[in-house]
Amino acid sequence: MTISSDPKQVKQICFDNINVPDMNTLAVAREHGAYAFLPTVLKEFSSSKIIDEMKTSGLRGRGGAGFPTGLKWSFVPRNTGKPTYLLCNADEGEPGTFKDRDIMRFDPHLLIEGMIMAGFALGVKDAYIYIRGEFLHESNVMNAAIQEAYAANLLGENILGSEFSMNLVVHRGAGAYICGEETALIESLEGKAGRPRFKPPFPAVEGFYGCPTVVNNVETLASVPAILEYGGAWHAAIGIPNNTGCKIFSVSGHVNKPGNYEVPMGTTMRVLIEDYCGGLQHGTVPKVIIPGGSSTPWLTAEHYDVPLTYDDIMKAGSFLGSGAVIVMDETADLMALTRRLAHFSAHESCGQCTPCREGTGWLERVITRVENGQGTQDDVTVLGDAARHMAGRTICALAEGAAAPVLSLLKHFPEDVQAYLGENA
Ligand code: SF4
Repeated sequence: MTISSDPKQVKQICFDNINVPDMNTLAVAREHGAYAFLPTVLKEFSSSKIIDEMKTSGLRGRGGAGFPTGLKWSFVPRNTGKPTYLLCNADEGEPGTFKDRDIMRFDPHLLIEGMIMAGFALGVKDAYIYIRGEFLHESNVMNAAIQEAYAANLLGENILGSEFSMNLVVHRGAGAYICGEETALIESLEGKAGRPRFKPPFPAVEGFYGCPTVVNNVETLASVPAILEYGGAWHAAIGIPNNTGCKIFSVSGHVNKPGNYEVPMGTTMRVLIEDYCGGLQHGTVPKVIIPGGSSTPWLTAEHYDVPLTYDDIMKAGSFLGSGAVIVMDETADLMALTRRLAHFSAHESCGQCTPCREGTGWLERVITRVENGQGTQDDVTVLGDAARHMAGRTICALAEGAAAPVLSLLKHFPEDVQAYLGENA
């Protein structure tokens, strides 16, 4: 790939060519540097050098968990006698997140190149892109790009004359949110119902068909070509220590210019909202900021100057998650918002764990009662108790994510809840 500006001044890694017309075609992608560095990687880089560069880069997984990518790759056992699989998580179901689809739609070869390099480092023969079922257009674009890549010997046997061979297949899911959780994704790809597994064992050791498996997000894999071409140290110099590189933030809600913005890590929330998104529609500071997708705890106006890093958002009481920033100004009906999110969680619970299966339904029913003006003070107490008892008692994090909006509403905006109780208070 080629960073169009001086790479030392780079402000974008995955989106550098996102607005180039026809970038989804191999010819145009190559004009802009796609696959230019791949022969060097295949000829001169070893697996350990690539993993070392990834570790040096400080890249943390862009799907939500923020786990260091190089470290994850280093956990994969070698010489097990089993194949190693690379799975790209393109499920992107977290409400508020809409970044990965843009990479796949507009610059699919960046993702393919990143997967070839990752596959080479990990000794992968078969790789998959697990794409959300609703992404028919993106799936078609990816498949067309993959066909072009096969025709150009960028995929398949002996890639570019090297000894490395890798196949890449796009698999469309059926639209279940929980299949964005890596073990549910693996179950689904194996042809079973998409339900999370207990961990450990972790996928790096026992994943797809019981084999070593790396699951990485689209943005994570699309960051690999720039890191290998310009070096891990180059990437580590962008952003701030332990939170390096750039990150795409999908901003929605009450801002004047919602959209995807790739900014250096450490940019403040205020700069993202005011400088990139044109500020708020009403008022001067947000009432609620959901920083990492709908399942992350809410931040408020007091957090407006928090730097956008995994560590700073965690210190503020939430998670950077997938970088889906949902902004609410003073006109927001927070009870209606909470009820909609509770409905989503209840609908998407896979049903394996009682606190999640039953708890998400309880939350939705009680919130709906309060929103309809039939709630009592006891309902508010039940809401808090139920939400607190859901977290940390389940196989995956969906239950905790379902509780987060309710607990945030009760913690930060008790007066909004009381206003709904009216004479029942
Ligand atoms: Fe399924 Fe919910 Fe349990 Fe996750 S927490 S495994 S979604 S029931």
